[in-house]
Amino acid sequence: KLDVVERFARRLGAAIDDRAVQAVSGVDLSIAEGEVVGLVGESGCGKSTLGRMVAGILPPSAGTLRWRGRDLRELSPADRHHANLKIQMVFQDPMASLNPRLRVADIVGEAPVVHGLVPRREAEDYVAATLRQVGLDPAYLRRYPHQFSGGQRQRIGIARALAVKPDVLVCDESVAALDVSIQAQIINLFMRLREELSLTYLFISHDLGVVEHISDRTAIMYLGRIVELAPTPELFDKPNHPYAKALLDEAPRVSVEKRRFAPIRGEIPSPLDPPSGCAFHPRCPHAMPRCSAERPALRAIAPRRWSACHLNETTGP
Ligand code: SF4
Ligand code: MG
Repeated sequence: KLDVVERFARRLGAAIDDRAVQAVSGVDLSIAEGEVVGLVGESGCGKSTLGRMVAGILPPSAGTLRWRGRDLRELSPADRHHANLKIQMVFQDPMASLNPRLRVADIVGEAPVVHGLVPRREAEDYVAATLRQVGLDPAYLRRYPHQFSGGQRQRIGIARALAVKPDVLVCDESVAALDVSIQAQIINLFMRLREELSLTYLFISHDLGVVEHISDRTAIMYLGRIVELAPTPELFDKPNHPYAKALLDEAPRVSVEKRRFAPIRGEIPSPLDPPSGCAFHPRCPHAMPRCSAERPALRAIAPRRWSACHLNETTGP
């Protein structure tokens, strides 16, 4: 069965400052083993929050996260710990996420030793093998993060994640800070690791070209909600949701690499005070009276395709 790896989140909320902000809500997403799901949206739409929840870094205030079909809250502490190790995060800025005072040997080797995956006396060999796996020279073991280029540092970040033998990588803007040529190398590395280690990815990015290139399915988020979820080729070929259309149709078609978010009319509303009904209604060219009153549910519009727009109810799928 496909859904060996399954995460399920519903009505998630996050506490930001002292105000309870629904950074993410009503999200319902399952990721199948071996799949790459891209998560795109403008900054502040909640995609990082969702990624952190999936990776177990940020607990949801409500809702359910399932791992291999089981509610995480129902697992024993040991099983929950195991599930958390199996989902690792790769961050955007490797410099900020790597301790500058630690050598690569310790950055990569610490977690597997602490978690009992590798005996301490074998840690160096283990780190050397992990570095080789991400295309780094094992001779770099004794160096510090500042002695590497941006692309190499991101490889160290990936090695650190891989060192605990994860099944899932949550990549949050993992190539955004890199030059385009280095981006391509790191993306190729992710895809090679996917094959070699049967990894599953939740790939968070604001870069439509990158997501189109690597994702099997794509989820588009707007103000804390998934508004469209579909197989990537179908979504990019024929987006359903007006927000997805605005993103894709108005983006320059010069080349896939150049496809970025097009300016959409209007400002992104504050997540502190989202518009009523469909949160996209102030910016939507198709908004109807109903749109400001009633929030559209994410509903199936075709096999494996989901969209949250009232237009689908009036015109049919
Ligand atoms: Fe536009 Fe209404 Fe659909 Fe929202 S529900 S995307 S406002 S048509
Ligand atoms: Mg972010």
